[in-house]
Amino acid sequence: MKRQLVFVCLCLCVVISSAAKQFTLVLDPGHGGTDPGAVGTNAKEKDLNLKVALLVGEKISERCPDVKIIYTRKTDKTVPLKDRPMIANKANGDLFVSIHTNSSDSRIPCGTETYVIGLAKIGTNFEVAKRENSVILLEKDRESYHGFDPNSPESYIMFEFMQDQYMEQSLQMADFIQQNFSKKTDRTDRGVRQDLFWVLHQTKMPSVLVEMGFVSNASDQTYMLSKQGQEAIAESIVCAFEQYKHEFDKKNGLKFKQDALPQKQISAEETDSGKPVFKLQLFVSKEVLPENHASLKGEKNLSYYEENGLIKYTIGETTSFKEIKNLKKELDKKFSDSFIIAFLNGEKISVKEALSLLK
Ligand SMILES: [Zn+2]
Repeated sequence: MKRQLVFVCLCLCVVISSAAKQFTLVLDPGHGGTDPGAVGTNAKEKDLNLKVALLVGEKISERCPDVKIIYTRKTDKTVPLKDRPMIANKANGDLFVSIHTNSSDSRIPCGTETYVIGLAKIGTNFEVAKRENSVILLEKDRESYHGFDPNSPESYIMFEFMQDQYMEQSLQMADFIQQNFSKKTDRTDRGVRQDLFWVLHQTKMPSVLVEMGFVSNASDQTYMLSKQGQEAIAESIVCAFEQYKHEFDKKNGLKFKQDALPQKQISAEETDSGKPVFKLQLFVSKEVLPENHASLKGEKNLSYYEENGLIKYTIGETTSFKEIKNLKKELDKKFSDSFIIAFLNGEKISVKEALSLLK
C-alpha cells in the first residue's frame, strides 16, 4: 500500500528572524599568497581568482545593495584552507561561492564547470578535488584537519556524513552559474559536477566551487587574462546570484503566507519516539506526482514531505542508520542522487546530529 506522509513544518520565529537578517554572500577567491594554485604559462590561478571575485563583489554591491558581501581575502595573501569555511560560518553566510581556475596535465581540456559537494560519478575526475584539497599539505598547522590527507582515498571516509540539507540550493546555484556561462561566455560548458572538496564540506550554508577555465589551455588562459573574459565570467556569476537571490526571497515570502496552515502533520510513529528516524531522499518535485509517474521508477512505497514549497520524495523509515545505508546501497543504481536525511519528532535535523543522538 502506498502510504503518503505529508507534514508541513513551520517555524515562524525562524522565518521572521531570517527575513529580518541581511542576506550574506561569502566570496572565496581560491589560493593566494604563498599558494599560487594552478600555474599556466602566463597566469597564476590565485591572481585570476582574485580579479574575478573582486569584480563579482563590485557588481553585486552595485546591483544588490541589500546584500552583505564577505571576502575570505581581498588581496594576495595566504589564507589557510580551513579558515575559509570558518570565515563563512562566523559571518553566518547564506551562500558560499569559491572561485577557482582549473588545470590539467594535458593542454586539451578546456571550459567551465561548477561543483557542489558529493560523491563523484563514476568516470569523472577525482583529480580536481585532490588538487584543490592538496593545499592542506603546504600548511604548517596540519593538525586542524583531523588527520585528513588529500592524497589518501581512506581519508575521504570523513565525507560520509555529509551535510545534505543545503544540497538543493547548492545545486540550484551551480545550475544557474553554468547556464549563465553558456549564455554569456563562449567557453565549453562542462556542466555541474560533484566531488569532495574540503572547503565545501565545512561550510554550513549552500556552497559551490566554480572552476572558471583551464589555465593549462592556451585559449582559456588568454580568455581569463582578458578584460572581456573576466567581465563575462564575473557577469555570469552575478546573474546567477541574482536568480538565486530572487528564488531565495520568493521562498521566504511564501513561508509567511503559509502561517494559516497547521503547524505540523506527522505520522504517529514519528511523534514522541524521541529517537531520530532516517529516510532516503530520492528526488524533488514541484508537485505531488501520480503513482505511475516515470520519476517514481516503479517504486511503490514512497513517501513525501514538503519543504520550501517543494515536494521531496523519500523511501524507507528506520531508526537504524545501518539499515538506511543498506537501502541506499540497494537503490544507488536506480536513484543515483539519493541521500540520507534524518528527522527527530517530525522535524528535519542533520544526519550528523541524528547520529550523535544515537550515541
Ligand atoms: Zn584552485
